[in-house]
Amino acid sequence: MSGDAYEAARLDMVERQIRRRGIGEPQVLDAMANVPRHRFVSAQHRHLSYADSALPIASGQTISQPYMVAAMTEALDLPPHSRVLEVGTGSGYQTAVLAELAAKVFTIERVSALADSARSILDRLGYKNIRFRVGDGSRGWPEHAPFRGILVTAAAAVVPERLLEQLEDKGCLVVPVGGDSDQDLYCIKRFGRDYERRFITRCRFVPLVEEPPT
Ligand code: SAH
Repeated sequence: MSGDAYEAARLDMVERQIRRRGIGEPQVLDAMANVPRHRFVSAQHRHLSYADSALPIASGQTISQPYMVAAMTEALDLPPHSRVLEVGTGSGYQTAVLAELAAKVFTIERVSALADSARSILDRLGYKNIRFRVGDGSRGWPEHAPFRGILVTAAAAVVPERLLEQLEDKGCLVVPVGGDSDQDLYCIKRFGRDYERRFITRCRFVPLVEEPPT
């Protein structure tokens, strides 16, 4: 497929899979239209880059379905100039979408081979507002907290407390919570010491692997 054909497929994806399903935030639609998802997909699956599904990436992980990336990003409701934390860099695709909208993105991945590959793709695409870290993201990144938004792209058994603590006031944690087969996606918004939890949709993510405490 040529670059133009990928772009046409991407704009069609934004219209059919995202806008028509109710994602209306113009900045999110623009970000989804700008990020070349095919650059994050392996050669074997590249022809499916703009299909309505998650796809396998290395290390037994997945690149999320485009609609899910858009829905999670919209749920964060980021004002301009926000700082965001992503847990589970994976392919780096969701990272790029966040980098289109936020002033600064901090992203943590436990599998170093995935982090390396995501970093090289994002560097080549010219993103300059992303900091990478290899490790257990369920503990957050306290040195750079608080964050306006925290996005977890792997399924947690329970809401990770350490992440809630790293939210700014009015900040939002978007996280899939539940068992291995499927989960509930929640947006949890902080109001001082209180938190308000909103259900977004059912979803299916790979598990969040937490390291034992040291
Ligand atoms: N947003 C990514 C989704 C990748 S799948 C994309 O669209 O490509 C989820 C990722 O979370 C996997 O790469 C997995 O290795 C990573 N992960 C799982 N548990 C983690 C943890 N505790 N800390 C950081 N990353 C984790």
